[in-house]
Amino acid sequence: MYEFISNLSLVSLLPLAAFLVLLVMQSLFPRRELAETGWGRLVQNILLFAVNLVVLRVLVPLTLIGVSIWASEQSIGVFNRAVAPGWMVVLVCVVVLDFMIYWQHVATHRWTLLWRMHKVHHADRNMDVTTAVRFHPFELVLSLLYKAVGIVLLGAPILAVVVFELLLFIGPAFNHSNLRLPVLLDRMLRWVIVTPDTHRAHHSTSVAEQNTNYGFFLIWWDKLFNTYTQTPQEGHEKMPIGLIAPQDQCDRVDQMLLAPFR
Ligand SMILES: [Zn+2]
Ligand SMILES: [Zn+2]
Repeated sequence: MYEFISNLSLVSLLPLAAFLVLLVMQSLFPRRELAETGWGRLVQNILLFAVNLVVLRVLVPLTLIGVSIWASEQSIGVFNRAVAPGWMVVLVCVVVLDFMIYWQHVATHRWTLLWRMHKVHHADRNMDVTTAVRFHPFELVLSLLYKAVGIVLLGAPILAVVVFELLLFIGPAFNHSNLRLPVLLDRMLRWVIVTPDTHRAHHSTSVAEQNTNYGFFLIWWDKLFNTYTQTPQEGHEKMPIGLIAPQDQCDRVDQMLLAPFR
C-alpha cells in the first residue's frame, strides 16, 4: 500500500504527459482549421486551469483519495462491506462513476443554475485539448462533492478512484482534442469510448446538438438513453462551435470567472 501511495506522484504526471502529447499531436494532425489561430485563446484556457488547480488543491480541503480512505475506515459503502475480486471492484466503480458523470453533465444542460457555470466550457469558439480544462471552478467544486458522494456510496477503493480520475482527465483531453483519427479507428473506438468527433457535436452552436453526446469517457450512456448523435448536421469541418448569444461570450479568464453572475 505504501509503495502504491508513493507511486501516486508518478501517476499524477500521466495526465500532464497526455495533455502535452495531445497538444503536439493535434497540431501535427488537425481535424479542422481553428477559427482563431495564435496563442491568446490557448493561454486564457490554461490560465483558467491554473485557477482551478489553486481552488481544488489549495482552497478546498477535500481529496477523493481522502474520501475513499475515510469511507474504508468507517466501513461505509458497498465494496467496504461486500467481498469481491479487486479487479471487479475497480471495474464496477469506474463504470458507475462514469454513469454518474453522464447524468451530472445532463443536469448541467437542463438546470439553469448549473448551466450558468457550464456555459463557460461551451463558450469556447474552438474545440481543442485546452477546452478540456476550461471549466468554471464552481462547477468543478460541485462535481468534486458529487463524486465524493458516489465514492462513499460505492466504498470505492483508492485504486478505483485513481483510475477513474485519470480517465476523467485523459478521456476528455483526448475527446476535446482537434486530432484527426483514421475513420476506421474512430468507428472502432466509438463502440466503447467518446472520440473527438463524437464530443465535437456536443459543442455545436445548435442547442439540439448540444443536448446530445453528454458522455465524458464511455459512450454507452448516450446510446442507451437516446442522446447519441453520430454526425453533426453541418459536418465536422464546417460546423460552428460555441454559443451564439452575445451575453454568453467570454474569452478572457476574468470574463470566464464572472460569466455565471452576468
Ligand atoms: Zn456540455
Ligand atoms: Zn466539452
